[in-house]
Amino acid sequence: MLDDHLDTTLVITDFKQWVYCPRVWYYQHCLPKVRPTTYSMEAGTEAGRAEEGREERRSLRVYGLQGREAEAQREFNVRLRSDKLGLRGEADMVITLADGEVIPVDYKLSETAGQHFKLQLVAYALLLEAMRGCVVTRGFLYLIPLRRAEEIKIDKRLRKQALQAIAEMQTAAQKEAMPAPTSQIAKCVSCEFRRFCNDVL
Ligand code: SF4
Repeated sequence: MLDDHLDTTLVITDFKQWVYCPRVWYYQHCLPKVRPTTYSMEAGTEAGRAEEGREERRSLRVYGLQGREAEAQREFNVRLRSDKLGLRGEADMVITLADGEVIPVDYKLSETAGQHFKLQLVAYALLLEAMRGCVVTRGFLYLIPLRRAEEIKIDKRLRKQALQAIAEMQTAAQKEAMPAPTSQIAKCVSCEFRRFCNDVL
């Protein structure tokens, strides 16, 4: 059975899974007992926590905002929610500048800014806009192993992709039907759910 918690809004971390492969999300919710907490999941959470401490001491140079530390407000673990979008989540960091610009930042234990990470960041941007009445034009994926921040423009194309994926995921959650597999078969090779997907390899 899919998530039957009273709160029916979708969680952004689930959304990230959905974008990576809809079936990963489906199995996680339908077969939660078969998926142990993996080392990489725990390592990612730990790395994110450790990054917060460093972030508080770090200058904003990594985001191209050097010299603006005094005016920048940094919030950590920012809870976001929109009933209209049917989505909720917690952004690792939100920077607000004196001119009103709002910039979400997500820490990733990864060396690449994959599409699922980008759309997750866009989802944070959409929630910030819904809650704060601002327009978010960019965000950052902070790639922890590289100690590098990649700027992601929150443009029309990514917004459209994110909204479409949110709508598809909501439909799947209502129907509780198994979605189609990813079209990127390379993802299946090392997937922990491969034994359930008899139709992909
Ligand atoms: S095996 Fe492939 S299609 Fe199935 S859940 Fe994994 S990535 Fe998705």
